[in-house]
Amino acid sequence: MTSDQDEFDLLFKIVLLGDSGVGKSNLLSQFCRNEFNFESKSTIGVEFAARTLKIKDKTIKAQIWDTAGQERYRAITSAYYRGAVGALVVYDTTNYDSFGNINNWLTELKENSNENIVVMLVGNKIDLVNLRSVSITKGKEFADEYQLNFIETSAKDSTNVELAFTTILNKIYDRIIT
Ligand code: GDP
Ligand code: MG
Repeated sequence: MTSDQDEFDLLFKIVLLGDSGVGKSNLLSQFCRNEFNFESKSTIGVEFAARTLKIKDKTIKAQIWDTAGQERYRAITSAYYRGAVGALVVYDTTNYDSFGNINNWLTELKENSNENIVVMLVGNKIDLVNLRSVSITKGKEFADEYQLNFIETSAKDSTNVELAFTTILNKIYDRIIT
């Protein structure tokens, strides 16, 4: 077997955070589906998938970590955060509580991660237009206040999913390389 697909210049670990049910696992599977270099691993309590892609002049292996349901019990271990250079903090635009909990996720992230971590706020499920309960303005205001990158997505119809990941990867690249 050729090992060509395992060659990369840099590995970026990105963690997914947010309440149970907001769509973290589906964002991950959308981003990694149809991908040349897809891989997925299951360990005790933690799952991740990786995709290798070109960011600027470098081949980046994006290793995306997904909780395996521990977020339900606020039982995410420090190993989950270890070495992460990016975080997608996700809420469900049809569930105001999940937006209200973003603060808690940011606090937990701050306690467990490197201060240089690139954070992006993600409002998911925008395909459910009639059920929306968090406006894009609210999301943007929150992101501005906390100086986070911001995007709205639909993991269902894949709106902005690629853009969410490539944006955070580019920001991480800029922070690391320059
Ligand atoms: P997680 O608990 O954060 O990993 O959330 P999941 O990815 O398991 O998704 C929870 C539920 O929401 C599942 O029934 C998904 O099918 C659904 N879901 C996830 N993302 C979207 C989305 O963008 N739009 C819609 N309509 N449903 C979604
Ligand atoms: Mg999940």
